[in-house]
Amino acid sequence: RSWWDHVTPAPKDPIIAVTEAFLADPFPYKINLGVGAYRDDEGKPVVLQCVREAEGKIAASNFLESTSTAVSSKFVEESAKLIYGQDSNVIKERRFAGIPALSGTGACRLFAEFQKRFYPESRIYLPDPTWSNHRNIWRDVHVPDRTFRYYHPDSKSLNFVALMDDIKNAQMVLSSLLHPCAHNPTGVDPTNEQWREISSLFKAKNHFPFFDVAYQGFASGDVERDARAIRIFLEDGHSIGCAQSFAKNMGLYGHRVGCLSVLCNDKIQAMAIKGQLQQISNTMYGSPPIHGISLASKILSDPDIKAIWLKEVKVMATRIHRMRAILREALERLGSPLNWQHITNQVGMFCFSGLNRAEVYLLAKEFHIYMTPDGRISMAGVTTKNVDYLANSIHEVTT
Ligand code: PLP
Repeated sequence: RSWWDHVTPAPKDPIIAVTEAFLADPFPYKINLGVGAYRDDEGKPVVLQCVREAEGKIAASNFLESTSTAVSSKFVEESAKLIYGQDSNVIKERRFAGIPALSGTGACRLFAEFQKRFYPESRIYLPDPTWSNHRNIWRDVHVPDRTFRYYHPDSKSLNFVALMDDIKNAQMVLSSLLHPCAHNPTGVDPTNEQWREISSLFKAKNHFPFFDVAYQGFASGDVERDARAIRIFLEDGHSIGCAQSFAKNMGLYGHRVGCLSVLCNDKIQAMAIKGQLQQISNTMYGSPPIHGISLASKILSDPDIKAIWLKEVKVMATRIHRMRAILREALERLGSPLNWQHITNQVGMFCFSGLNRAEVYLLAKEFHIYMTPDGRISMAGVTTKNVDYLANSIHEVTT
């Protein structure tokens, strides 16, 4: 007998399962539409020019020290400016508590731990559907989750009435997780007007809004525009929390660069909360690796490098937009009897295609095209070379 006989295999992460099936397939023209990582029109991962420039500038830094306070404070301040606005009062009055986190996942987890510690009876309300790991993260810290309706499968768009209803009926002492832009997996975002209504309702119900910002820039191509939901909540005087990831919009996936911030009433409260967040991270992993934080901080604070970054974000978002248009057009040209408008209505990295499990299975089995069983297509995997084959295959399995 060993100590670990009772340990059974963990369920496979749905994305990893898709990647494994893709890798095991020898077909030369196979397509991976599973993973939400940006690829160029050749299907290749991209190291952004802004990252190269930032690397050059920080090359002389001394990385042997653990994260110095100065480096991490600068990174947090730049991240806060990016999401709350360069001239926001929150920044001027230092009414935010922020710490670097291990990408978006780490930022969500830190917040979940913080929530459990200071509101042990609270719940988290998650949109239905949402990124699959959200549920796991709050489950692991023993905060019960509930869902609010979000997506309408028939119209393939936002179920706003149901969303408002569910928030209205939600119990007190809770936080709700919102995707401010480029919702994963649906690609469906509320309009500005809808965000205003959501914000008013949150205010009336005294709900705490927690934003998971994993794709700032990917919805509109403009990081400022993609922060509009958060700015609306700010205008309404909400105290909010934000998990920011730079994995996708800076292409820093493996560096695990993220930030968690919580807005406070004043500077003194901000210091207290920051200290508590640091204590939580200290017992989980000490401090985060310094290289990625230095890169992101340089990109955000050096005006020339930031200008390059903003252009590159636009290029990535535009390529994805273009692929949406081409895919829809190709399906319509094939005479598909189905409505494919949602491909271009939805925004960001993903298209919630409406393909059912059986169709997704057939696409993998017969056509070597891989996506998650919920029919989510990572548009970043679509290129000018494979889009016709993809459209033909979708047409085949849906008619
Ligand atoms: N939040 C959402 C909505 C996501 O889609 C993802 C990644 O897929 C993350 C957070 C976490 O990403 P990372 O931890 O790589 O920053």
